[in-house]
Amino acid sequence: MVVLKTSRELAAMKAAGKISARALKLAGEAVEPGVSTMEIDRLVRRYIEEQGATPSFLGYGGFPASACISVNNVVIHGIPQKGHLLKEGDIVSIDIGAYYEGFHGDNAWTFACGDVSKEAQALMDATRESLFEGIQAAQPGNRIGDIGSAVQRYVEARGYSVVRDFVGHGVGAKLHEDPSVPNYGTPGRGVRLLPGMTIAIEPMVNAGGYTVETLADGWTTVTTDGKLSAHFEHSIALTPDGPVILTLPD
Ligand code: MG
Repeated sequence: MVVLKTSRELAAMKAAGKISARALKLAGEAVEPGVSTMEIDRLVRRYIEEQGATPSFLGYGGFPASACISVNNVVIHGIPQKGHLLKEGDIVSIDIGAYYEGFHGDNAWTFACGDVSKEAQALMDATRESLFEGIQAAQPGNRIGDIGSAVQRYVEARGYSVVRDFVGHGVGAKLHEDPSVPNYGTPGRGVRLLPGMTIAIEPMVNAGGYTVETLADGWTTVTTDGKLSAHFEHSIALTPDGPVILTLPD
């Protein structure tokens, strides 16, 4: 069931979104060679808790950390590790949610660790732009398929592929709500977009093929071909005037 939010609820979601966005910004600033993914997770947790909020992911389905930190060929759900030190040239996808006064904000960004290859930078740029293509397509009256097809078209025109096995989602009082928001689709198909809907659009884009595998830890999801993957996400609200990004730091 798709839950439509009132304007008061949207204001509360903006507050939750701001906390998750600021936590993500902080995490990104900490990305540098030699830093462990566990240290970044600690910063994220401390920041979110200092705001009187709760890390949405900590304990969610048993996830052991506050941030998913997914490096290079890891697509999503990377588990922060004390022994995993970032290296120059890594691309580091960080996904963070914060729960505040009854609502979740959910966002992700792929950061460069030091200087990265031209190929890695191009993948990150295309994935980020495909997110904004998807957001632009999230107009009331459009359908879910319009978002997915906008993302997919942008990505595939550049020779990359969109992950099928994981998708965006409604977001609100629950971290994952209806509807599903795939990063692929057919224009004019799927659930109709209405003012008051709040969704997380989150393209996961692979440099190679779109297939992924989940490792034995039950979380870490990697590209099957071992090539790079990037991930960008915003939580947005649909308003009569168009999409509004909820996960902004200011
Ligand atoms: Mg999400």
